[in-house]
Formats: sequence, structure tokens, C-alpha cells
Amino acid sequence: MTKHALEFLGETKLELGAAGEASGNWRSGRDDDGVLWLALDKSDSGVNTVSEDVIRELDGLIAAAEADLPKALVIRSAKQAGFAAGADITSFDAMSDDGAAEMLKQGHAVLDRIEALNCPTICVVHGAALGAGFELALACDYRIITPGASFGFPEVKLGLHPGLGGTFRLPALIDPTEAMTLMLTGKTAHTKRAKSLGIANLVTEERHVRAAVRAAAEGEIDQHEQGLKARALNFDQARSLVARQMRTQTEKKAPKRHYPAPHALIDLWEEHGDDSKAMQKAEIASFADLLKTDTSKNLRRVFFLQQNLKGAGKGEDGIDHVHVIGAGAMGGEIAAVAAIRGKTVTLGDVENDPLGHAIRQAGEICEDKHLSSIETRDALDRLMPDPMGYGVAHADLIIEAAPEDIGIKQKIYDGLKGRMKEGAILASNTSSLSVDEMADHAPAAARFAGLHFFNPVSKIDLVEVIRAKDTSEDAASRLTAFCGSIGKLPALVDDYPGFVVNRALTPYLMEAMALMDEGVRKEVIDTAALQFGMPMGPVTLADQVGLDIGLHVAESLRDNLEKPMADISDKLREKVEAGNLGKKTGKGFYDWDEGSPRPDASLDDAPADLTDRLILPMLDACVEVLRRGVAKDEDQVDAAMIFATGWAPFRGGPMHYARDRGIDEIVTRLKELEDAHGPRFAPDEGWRTLG
Ligand code: NAD
Repeated sequence: MTKHALEFLGETKLELGAAGEASGNWRSGRDDDGVLWLALDKSDSGVNTVSEDVIRELDGLIAAAEADLPKALVIRSAKQAGFAAGADITSFDAMSDDGAAEMLKQGHAVLDRIEALNCPTICVVHGAALGAGFELALACDYRIITPGASFGFPEVKLGLHPGLGGTFRLPALIDPTEAMTLMLTGKTAHTKRAKSLGIANLVTEERHVRAAVRAAAEGEIDQHEQGLKARALNFDQARSLVARQMRTQTEKKAPKRHYPAPHALIDLWEEHGDDSKAMQKAEIASFADLLKTDTSKNLRRVFFLQQNLKGAGKGEDGIDHVHVIGAGAMGGEIAAVAAIRGKTVTLGDVENDPLGHAIRQAGEICEDKHLSSIETRDALDRLMPDPMGYGVAHADLIIEAAPEDIGIKQKIYDGLKGRMKEGAILASNTSSLSVDEMADHAPAAARFAGLHFFNPVSKIDLVEVIRAKDTSEDAASRLTAFCGSIGKLPALVDDYPGFVVNRALTPYLMEAMALMDEGVRKEVIDTAALQFGMPMGPVTLADQVGLDIGLHVAESLRDNLEKPMADISDKLREKVEAGNLGKKTGKGFYDWDEGSPRPDASLDDAPADLTDRLILPMLDACVEVLRRGVAKDEDQVDAAMIFATGWAPFRGGPMHYARDRGIDEIVTRLKELEDAHGPRFAPDEGWRTLG
């Protein structure tokens, strides 16, 4: 569920029945019909998580229900923010020892008792029911949901699978292959899908929840029945066949050696899919084992890195109205994302076509984000094409996303002088120009900064907020808060060629081209990067970004960095000159007209140092930006690379990987590469202080 939808829901009064009496994390009470209402209201938090104390207290409440059986039991959340965000991940590190299995068993025992309770049990869900929250809902007989409710098992994103009964309760409730897909992908089932899959028995408006509970208590709401397919999968042979297909599919997206959890889940299901008691035992043991893997530890680290960036995006931005200049690839999406998140947005361009395209695209983004028709209408109402630039005088923030040409940008800034609202901020989405130099042309240097979104804006969470030399603290903190308010993760960094992300990524792309010039096949290069764990090989990535943009950034870095880079490949220039710019034109290094490239080459004849040649220059650039104080710390660099580029998350980020592999070992390796291939591999002096 989107934040905006949550705010929308925030105006609705939740039906808590008789759940008035508060004790610990729960509110409880019996109503006149004899229905026992339990409302989860995690203390000291705006969001519910299912922690050890939540389960312990629930244990007591269920014991009381067993002793004096109610007419029905209702479990729901007292928080506007939704049902429950999952288990309390902060407790996982402490659980990574043998105590984990014992703790899980206690949790299972409580959910088993809810399942066995001799009265109808009803879970009412609004907002998200994730992970352990979903599992709590599954232990009940009925799930009544309100519009906007969603269910998901994000455990795979933490290197785990469900651990509180999800692995057998969900496949027992709905089509087991659909259940496995949800658990293997971590995808969310939004309201409509939750109903059609059979997760939810009923979708109703909040004001009808009480009547729906009464109907469920009277047995007037149908239970979901599994189909023939589900019964067929009770047979070992049928399950083995499907499991084999699942393994092949999963291996492509999440190779077992990097991501063991989904494969462990398939093994569990194949072996015990017809026996929930055996599955329960195996689930507990497997979850406890996975907790100890490096993959899970690193992915949990990534979760906390994300929390840190979210924290950096908190605060008041004082920005209601945003004016975006340039409705192209970037400006159009920036405007759409801001409007979806509640900002009033005016969008200017010198051409009309991009404006029309941007509005259409905004509608598609709303659909992608599962906004309701009312939310979509409201978002589109807030987004106004403004070819005459009337918004300039009213905007609290102007984002310039005009072409990457200092002449054009300078003219735009000249035209803003004397027209901007008092105190308004101007930010540029430049990816390669010096923000410090641009500030000289801005109407007010103290209220000027870089705001570097990544393409596609609606999908990539990171935004680099670039503080120029005269950017005020107030402007910088309002910009980071603005990023947070539109659901983005801000990394506040200083001005430097390529800032952090492009500084680190460009050598990776350039080295790939140097390797191609040496005669190494592009598929071999991309396969090496994929096998390391990158989401995409560098040649595919260059095509995806656009070879013209890649060339521009590379030239800019070559001209502005002290360190040498690989020579810019003639092949790259030739492609750009011929208009073969990659994905956007259908042809680049790959032929995209035949679909997205799926390189999977043998590495038998690949150069022995291929992977290090691609990866180590990125690590070296990260050390350089840290030494120069461009980025705050190693965590920020790791987070920026993961949330902007998808950098092998199971390795915990480039700096974490460097530390894991050993700083001395990396420096030695860089020196070897320097001897073999030239000074671009010379280790940065910053490595010495890391030791
Ligand atoms: P684009 O060419 O797709 O869009 C630029 C838009 O600006 C066009 O619609 C054009 O008509 C309009 N324009 C031109 N002159 C204008 C003016 N004087 N006033 C108002 N509008 C004007 O470019 P883009 O890819 O969206 O890039 C925009 C900025 O974002 C650049 O600074 C670029 O470096 C940066 N950026 C691009 C990417 C990317 O992948 N495309 C990624 C990050 C940052």
C-alpha cells in the first residue's frame, strides 16, 4: 500500500469493537454479542510488528479465550498504518543462535491454538499484513479486509522464508503454486488479487466491518475452497514436477549459491507439501538455519541501511508546490511521483508533446502503484501542465530537468531571477555538471542544490541530494525531507564529478568497453558480472542507460577527475554517432528489438581477472569519495549503490564486500591489476586509512 493511500485511510475511524482495555501491546474486550476483540497496538511505535512480547501477550489472551470461549474471536490492528509490517527484524541478530528454533516453536504453538479454538476466528485486515502479520491472519478461519489491504511474504528479501506457519498455511488455503509464487518472489497481493486468490473471504468498507464480523460469527460467510489443482499437488510426483520447474525459474532470478532461501522453500514444499505437521517442523529448522547464513545477515544489513536513509528523509520540507522544468524522460516522472505523493505540481516544457506524454505516463505509474481510481484522479488533478511557467511564482521548490547543457540551464536560471517565491529552492537534476559551478548562475546560491534522481524515477528509490559549496543547511535538509515525503531515499552528498553513484559506476561500464576492445565477448563480460551478483551486466546496463548518456558522463568524469580512466572506446563513440543508443533506439551493443538481452555465456575461456577488473574499480571509487568526504560514511555509500544500482545486495554493499574480502587483499589485487593493465587500477590512498 502506498503512503498516500495510508494517509487517505488515516481519516477513517477504525472499528475496534469492544477492544478498549489496553495491556502491553494489545487492547481487548468482549462486546454484547459475546465476540472477543483483540486489537494489536504495538507500544512506542506507529507500526505494528510481531515481536516476542506481542506473541507472549497473545498467548495469555488466547489462554483466557480457551478458558471462557467467546462467540467468536476477532484479531485486528488498532494502528491506522495497517495490520502488521512483519516480524521484529531487530531481534533477528540475537536469534541467530540455537535459541531461534525454540522461540519459533513458541510462536507456532500460539498460532496453532488460535487455529484450534472452538469458535469462529476472524482476522480484519486494513493496510498491509506482511510476513508474521500475514501468518497471524492465516491462523484465523476468516479474513475480512477493507479496500487497500494487502498481503505479502517479504522474507525472501531478507534471505529467509516464512517462519511462523506461512509455508503450510498459505498453500493449504489457496492454489499451492500461487502460494509458492508469493513466497518465492516476495510480491504483494493487493486487495483485488487477495480476494481472487482466496486469501480474503470478504472485502468491505471499514464502516461495514462490524456487520461483516457478525456475519462471519454466524457462519454466514463462505470459506474458500481449494480447487482440483491443489488436490493434485497432494501427490508427490505432481509436486516434484512442479518443484523442478520452480527451481529452474528461481535459479534464473535468484541463484542458489547467492540466495539459498527460496531454494530451501522449494525443497520443503516438495518433501512435505502433503503433511502440514512435518512441514511445520521442517520450516522451523530451515528458518533457523537460514538466519545464520551470510546472505541473510547481509540482506538484513541492507534493510537497516534502507531504514537509515528513510530516517535521513524525515522532517518538515515546507514544500507543497513543486514546479518541474523539462517534461522529458526524467522531469515527467519526477512530476508524476511528486503529484502521487500529494504535492501540487506544475510541469513546464518548451514543447507540448512531452507534456502530453508526461500526463499519460503519470496515469500508467498510478496503475503500476495500484492506486485506487479516486487516488489516481486526485493525483492527476494535482499534476498540471504549465507551458507558460505560471507555477514558477508559486512553487516552494523548482526542479530543473532540462537537457544536460550548461547553456540551456543557464538561460533557464536567468529567466527565473526575480520570479521565484521568497524562500523557494531551485534544484537541478543534472547528472554530470558541477553543481558548484551551476550555483553561480542560480538566482540564490544558498537555495540551490543538485537533486539527482535516477532513471526510471518511479522505480529507483535513491536520490542524491548534492550540497553545493553555498547551499544552506536549511535548503539541504528541506530537500532531504522532500525526498522522504515523496517516498524516496535521500543520500546527502557533496559536489564531485559523478557525485557518488555515477563516480563508482562509470569505471565499471568503461572497463567493460575496454574488455570488449580487447576482444572479450559482451556476453562473457555480462555473465561474469551477473555471476558476481550484479542485477545486470555492464554492457546491458550501458545500453539500458543510453549510450549517449553514458558517453557524456564518461567524458565529463575523464575531464574532471584526477585519476585516469580507461580510454573511451571508439566503438562507443561510433554507436552514438550512428544513433544506436541502446534500448531506447532498439539497438546498442545488443539488439533490443529481439527482447531484453539474457547473457548466459561460459566463462571457461574468460580472462582470469575479468570479475576483479569490473568490480574492484567500483570499490576503489567508493574509497575515493569517502576519502574526499563526498559521502558521509561507508553505510551511506553501500546504501546509495544498492538502492540506485541494485549492487549485489546479498553482499551487503561494495564497502561491506571490501571489508568482508579483506582490505589488504583488495589493495594487493588492485596493484596486480595496475601492473597488468595500467594506472587506472592504482589503489586510492584512502585504502590505507581503512585497514
Ligand atoms: P530529455 O531530453 O528527455 O528531456 C528534456 C526536456 O526538457 C525535453 O522535453 C525538452 O523539450 C525540455 N526543454 C528543453 N529546453 C527547455 C527549456 N528551456 N525550458 C523547459 N524545458 C526545456 O532529458 P532527460 O533525460 O529527462 O534529462 C534531463 C536532466 O536529467 C539532464 O540534466 C540529465 O543529465 C539528467 N538526468 C538524466 C538521466 C537519464 O537517464 N535520462 C538520469 C539522471 C539525470
